[in-house]
Amino acid sequence: PLILGIESSCDETGVALVRGCELLGESVASSVDQHVRFGGVVPEVASRAHLEAMTPTVRRALDSAGAKLSDVDAVAVTAGPGLAGALLVGVSAAKAYAMALGKPLYGVNHLVGHVAVDQLEHGPLPKPSIALLVSGGHTSLLLVNDLATDVVSLGDTVDDAAGEAYDKVARLLELPYPGGPPIDQAAQRGDPKAMRFPRGKWGDGTYDFSFSGLKTAVARHVEDAERRGAPLVVADIAAAFQESVVDVLTRKAVDACVEHGVSTLVISGGVAANSALRVLAEQRCQEAGIELRVPRPRLCTDNGAMIAALGAEVVAAGLPPSTLDLATDTSLPVESPLAV
Ligand code: ATP
Ligand code: MG
Ligand code: FE
Repeated sequence: PLILGIESSCDETGVALVRGCELLGESVASSVDQHVRFGGVVPEVASRAHLEAMTPTVRRALDSAGAKLSDVDAVAVTAGPGLAGALLVGVSAAKAYAMALGKPLYGVNHLVGHVAVDQLEHGPLPKPSIALLVSGGHTSLLLVNDLATDVVSLGDTVDDAAGEAYDKVARLLELPYPGGPPIDQAAQRGDPKAMRFPRGKWGDGTYDFSFSGLKTAVARHVEDAERRGAPLVVADIAAAFQESVVDVLTRKAVDACVEHGVSTLVISGGVAANSALRVLAEQRCQEAGIELRVPRPRLCTDNGAMIAALGAEVVAAGLPPSTLDLATDTSLPVESPLAV
């Protein structure tokens, strides 16, 4: 079956067409430029941008797949988690398409979509797999027994998400929003050993994460340098900060694989685009005999393909479609691949 996937949980309007593990076409429109001067996503601005972008993005996705709306067999849409008004635009559009086409509608989980998208690049995910989900709003270690029906959360961040830490530290260093890419770039010119920042919840025997202490340590370092009138070596701070983040993430992810006897690790979400994370994860997985799967950067950040990919799984599992009164759920838990 041909699945039309629609994503609108944050500031990307994403639409894609997927059949099984094959990505046939996609299009993403981002309103990130409209949020830059505010240093973060402004919900009202994002909703408005989704509304304007939805129809043209659907058309571009169909064109890139060489498909017509009437070819679509099912519509999948992000039902949560995300921004209320932003989610509402996607869900309303998906309902309209499903109703007009007389095809089933599936409200799916954005976070599980971040994991499912890997199948479009590397084929079916072995069962079970461990997934490290590192995005702007979430940092979770998941035991994925089945993408459509059985996702177990092993641990979560107790404070900031990894992406959030990048964004906050970028602001401290006066780097632009979103902070991930500029810190990634600055770090490549810096010395990660120039200073050592704390590794939250390191070796505490849980799969939880904490990044707020790290952020505070960076803030203290910056204040201290300013007080002494010392120059800020942004590249070194970025490198040392990044090393702390990727060290904890990869260590806990590999530990989870070993403890659960799982030989495949998939890393996804926006922070999975990080170059240092990709390098260290590859190194540690190799040492532990674990197969590492990381989608290409474009598929790591928000897009429609992730939603269509999860929709395809849900359809293949024979799960019942959502009804047309499908509601958005701003805090849909990661263990619910399908919204009810
Ligand atoms: P969620 O999926 O939790 O709802 P989101 O959809 O807003 O959150 P994503 O789009 O998956 O999050 O990821 C955005 C985050 O990824 C931002 O915090 C951004 O700074 C971070 N990011 C993007 N590229 C990189 C990079 N190269 N290195 C580190 N972080 C990055
Ligand atoms: Mg975004
Ligand atoms: Fe996301």
